Amino acid sequence: MAEMNINDAVLTTRLDAVVNWGRKNSLWPLPFGTACCAIEFMSMQASKYDMSRFGAEAMRFSPRQSDMLMILGTVTNKLAPVLRTIYAQMAEPKWVISLGVCASSGGMYRTYATLQGVDRVIPVDVYVPGCPPRPESMLYGVMKLQEKIEKESLSMRKDHIARFYESLARQD
Ligand code: SF4
Repeated sequence: MAEMNINDAVLTTRLDAVVNWGRKNSLWPLPFGTACCAIEFMSMQASKYDMSRFGAEAMRFSPRQSDMLMILGTVTNKLAPVLRTIYAQMAEPKWVISLGVCASSGGMYRTYATLQGVDRVIPVDVYVPGCPPRPESMLYGVMKLQEKIEKESLSMRKDHIARFYESLARQD
């Protein structure tokens, strides 16, 4: 009888699984909105699409308090070092979603002034296509990130951080 009660009350799991469950369901977004994609993002936040259903509604405008950097719009070469600094200032664990073609590849701005994809300066976890991506696509991007987080191991994250700081050191 006592054994049955214990079985009902105890759940065994892996440390990675329980940590990742917490991480994927409590993402704190930092919107890096530079152009029109940011308008679509506002719609994703509002009641119709309601990003809070995914545990990701606690918007923060400080890199110290965020773990999901969402890039929304064109990034110029002049702005690239700022983006890199913001990413470096975020505490681990942290993830990046590039939303829209401008952020992911420079989009139609094939000019000397435009960064041809934010992955040239920071690591990107999920790319969402579109100009602009619809709110449904943006939410799908968040869900894809959640799937990715679920599969991560804690040691994988350690390597991820090391690679970024090595690349930072090479640029200095
Ligand atoms: Fe604007 Fe389209 Fe670029 Fe988004 S992808 S910032 S909607 S031009």
